[in-house]
Formats: sequence, C-alpha cells, structure tokens
Amino acid sequence: MSESEYPMLAVEQALGIVLEQASPLPPITVALKQASGLILAEAAVAREAMPPFAASIKDGYAVVAGDGPGDYPLVGTVTAGRIADFAVQPGTVAYITTGAPLPSGADAVVMVEETERLGSANGQMHVRVRQGVKAGADVRPVGSDIEPGQQVLAAGMRLGAAEIGLLATVGIAQVRVHPRPRVAVLSTGDELVEPDATPGPGQIRDSNRAMLVAAIAAAGGEPLDLGIAGDSVDSISAGIERGLHEADLLLSSGGVSMGDLDLIKPLLEEAGTVHFGRLRMKPGKPCTFATADIDGQRRLLFGLPGNPVSSLVTYYLLVIPAIRKLAGWREPRLTRIQAHLDQALPLDAYRPEYHRATATWDPGLNDGQGGYRAISTGIQASSRLLSMRTANVLLELPQGEGTLTAGSVVAALVIGDL
Ligand code: AMP
Ligand code: MG
Repeated sequence: MSESEYPMLAVEQALGIVLEQASPLPPITVALKQASGLILAEAAVAREAMPPFAASIKDGYAVVAGDGPGDYPLVGTVTAGRIADFAVQPGTVAYITTGAPLPSGADAVVMVEETERLGSANGQMHVRVRQGVKAGADVRPVGSDIEPGQQVLAAGMRLGAAEIGLLATVGIAQVRVHPRPRVAVLSTGDELVEPDATPGPGQIRDSNRAMLVAAIAAAGGEPLDLGIAGDSVDSISAGIERGLHEADLLLSSGGVSMGDLDLIKPLLEEAGTVHFGRLRMKPGKPCTFATADIDGQRRLLFGLPGNPVSSLVTYYLLVIPAIRKLAGWREPRLTRIQAHLDQALPLDAYRPEYHRATATWDPGLNDGQGGYRAISTGIQASSRLLSMRTANVLLELPQGEGTLTAGSVVAALVIGDL
C-alpha cells in the first residue's frame, strides 16, 4: 500500500489503537534498589505493626501522667534501639530519646523543654517537671502508623521515593514489578553519519537516535541502540529483525514518507500487521504503527518520521503512552493542562497542530488565581530541532482558519517538567 492509501487517522483514535495493542509486560522480581520508577505488580501488605513498640515522639522524660508537675528522681535512661532494664514507678522519671521504647510503668513523655535538671542530691539526680501531661502524650502507640495486615501499596502503584520507603519499612526487599520495556531504536537513511563524524557531501549527522535513546531512558524504558541502516531492504530488514527479537518495542526513524526509498511501510507490512500509516496531525503525518507476534510475544513497531521534530513529537504522543502501558501504568496517557497563549498563533487549515511551547506558572493569570502561560519556541519547522528546545508542553492547536489571539486558552500536553 502506498502512503496515500492509508486512511488519515485522528491522533486520539491512533492512540486508542496503540493502547489496545499494548499490554503490561509479565511481572518479574527485583531488589528494592532496582525498583525505583517501576509499577508494582502485586499489593504490598504489612506483616507487623509500625511502630512495633510504644515509641517516644520527643526527647524528654518518660513519666507516669498521673504524677503531674513536680520534682522527681531520675531512675534511668533509655535511648533509641535499647530496651530499659528498669521500670518507671509512680513518683519517678526516666530520660528518653525520640524513637526509644517507653519503659514499663511510664505512660507519657514530657518534652525536655518543659523540664529542668536539678542536679543530684544524695547521689540521686532530680528532674523538675513543669508541665503536666495526659496519658499517651508524645507516645506513638504500637501500630499507630501501620497496622499489621494493612495494605500499604496497591498493585498498579508507581514506586517513587515514598513507596520505596514503605516497602523497606514493611520488610519487602524483593518486589514484584513490571519490567522496564526494552525499546530498540533504528535510524534509517543513506545520508546519516554518527554524531562524532564529519559529514561528507550530502550527509548529515544522525540526531534522532541519540535523542530517542535519551527520551526512552527518561520514560523508564531500556534503550537498545540498533545503529543506522542504509536505505536498502536488506539493511532495514536486518535492523527490524534484530529489534523484533531483542526488544518489546521498536522505533525506526525516517523512510516513512512518499519517496522512492521510503521502505519502512512495506517492510512493516511484511513483518506484521500495520494498524495505521497516516495521522491527521502536524508535524508527524506519516507516522506508522504495526504489531508482530514473535514467540507468542506481542511486539510493537513504530515507523517514526525522519524529520527530528516529527520524530520526537510522535514519540511523545504515541510511544510514551505505549512504553507506559507495557511498564504497567494504569493511566499511560500524557497529562493535559490549560495554557494561556503568550502570543497570537496561526492555525493550520488542514490538520491539528502540536505547537511546541514552554509553559510556566504565572500567579497573575485568571484574575490572580494563577495559570500556565505558554511561550512559543518560535519557528515550528519539522526539521528545526530548536523548536523542541526547552519545550515542556505541546499546545493542541485545532485545525482552522486564521489565528488564535494572545491570551487564548488552549489544551496542552505535558512533555517535560512544568
Ligand atoms: P525521510 O522520512 O527519511 O525522508 O527523512 C525526512 C528528513 O529527515 C530528511 O531531511 C532526512 O535527512 C531527515 N532525517 C531522517 N532521519 C534522520 C536522523 N536520524 N537524524 C536527522 N535527520 C534525519
Ligand atoms: Mg530517509
């Protein structure tokens, strides 16, 4: 099929197809240290109470609350990690540090700021308690943070710092997670040379591969660099073949438009099933998506356009959600915000456009309630990678006539830190 024979799909429809074809990779067990950023495949349940003992919240004195303010003999010291080998009888106090187990007999802690050391009389140190406290004051009861049997994390949660901390606290050092998807990247084009080479006549450096490898790592994927394939069936087929066997997802760039040497579409048709070959969007119209089953495993293949901006925009719109779905994300789509245009922007009469912009929080917008202000990155040519520099949103400009005025509010997909 030539490119023009593929129906032109709306991006939302194409994304629906991609997400339908992508399923979470089968869970594996990894060490907690390796789990950061991954999606939990099974619920995490605490076996023990946290804290496992009644613990002091403050540095101060363990007391019997009923004693009230007064001067009391100091009968001992208990610090975190130790157990008192004495009891606190009524009319006595013990020095205690934060996190230490409350000695038997004591039922509250008076913080050190409310006390005074009086010095020793007859070899016995005395402490003045200035402030009375209620039973239980400044003590964390057993299980007050986490109860035994409590589910601390649900399957499908993403393991950030807090979640890793929770797993550590409940003693789950080996954790069931979905693995990082392996994503292979193949550049195509006779004109391409490596970034460290000096291009000869007619040649340019391959920007897409380094860029996509970085983007894959940033998205939590495991990049696999397949190098550059020349514009020949053999060269590209070899790359596709390797990607199909060694990765869950394969990205090629270039060779998907209408030229004589645009070989990707027919080769993807040969390798598997092509689901779409044309999108109603700017930039990135020729973006192509196929699936193939290798040894019972579903592989996803994207033929991304060659122009660097088209390549990266289609990567964000379609490949990131695919990587996330494979990685087990329950909500794999990009986040949307509303952004106020800082300047008037022209509309494309034929296709919705993903205009690259830098959004920052402006507290003065929306009558002082605040909002995101989007500043265009400038000329939006699909070859001009400078239009992606510092971009953290893709403004979803509708297809239409004329321009959107400055101050207009448009939806924007988040592709970087806001
Ligand atoms: P193609 O889709 O192969 O016709 O490529 C479209 C445009 O993108 C051409 O100007 C190519 O030279 C350029 N291009 C293709 N692949 C890359 C790449 N990996 N890095 C930089 N530019 C590329
Ligand atoms: Mg090419």
